[in-house]
Amino acid sequence: MADSLRAKVILCTALVAANVLAVSYVVLSRTKASPLPELSSAEPAALASASAEPSASPTASAAAATAAPTPAVTADTVSDDSLCRLINADHPVDASYVPSGLAEADVTSDHVQMLRTEAIAPLQQMMADAKAQGVSLKLISGYRSYTLQVSLQNTYIARYGRKEADRFDDHPGASEHQLGLAVDLGNASSACELQECFSSYPASQWLEENAWKYGFILRYPESGEAVTGIRYSPWHYRYIGTEEAAKIHDSGLTMEEYYAAETAG
Ligand SMILES: [Zn+2]
Repeated sequence: MADSLRAKVILCTALVAANVLAVSYVVLSRTKASPLPELSSAEPAALASASAEPSASPTASAAAATAAPTPAVTADTVSDDSLCRLINADHPVDASYVPSGLAEADVTSDHVQMLRTEAIAPLQQMMADAKAQGVSLKLISGYRSYTLQVSLQNTYIARYGRKEADRFDDHPGASEHQLGLAVDLGNASSACELQECFSSYPASQWLEENAWKYGFILRYPESGEAVTGIRYSPWHYRYIGTEEAAKIHDSGLTMEEYYAAETAG
């Protein structure tokens, strides 16, 4: 399974292999002030190998090293099936979108919950490790279809009004739950379920400290509403793979901010 997960993480970035060259070209184009001639998009590999060769001229070698930036591998945030798909009100998926590879997650839950297969083993491991450390978690909600999102949103609008309902992660077509990559987690006891007060429980604190190690990020942090448009949701975690999760966690940024910054270089 570890190999399979690794393969998926690789896939996440491999899907944008074409973009890598394009990004490399942009990055390299920005270094035109260097003594090297302008490079075509096909040349980064050649440049990399050339700079690794011994050179009789330390000056030329240093110049080559300076002009050979590490290609910025930007994750694929646009393909619907990408583990890094950025979804929000500005970047929705079609109403008809159903992720490929949905399966039932065999974890503590009050209902049958489906998730993208890539997220299941990491979730099971995370919940098992939490339990071993005295934290009993429950999966409250995983994959939700577009139709279910419509129903949920209508319920929330009727109950709280449109403005308040818009702050929930229930937007049809714009919810991570439709990607099959989001999990709402809570205390096995149901205490403070889907409420901000969940954050005061050890389960929430454990997740904040550890979820990223399993490839899950806190998607709607307390300070992130101005960017994400979604209220602080200490129960909502997004699977994105361990590599990207570690980077985003370390950055302290929201997913929107992190990838905007990465794209901007
Ligand atoms: Zn959620």
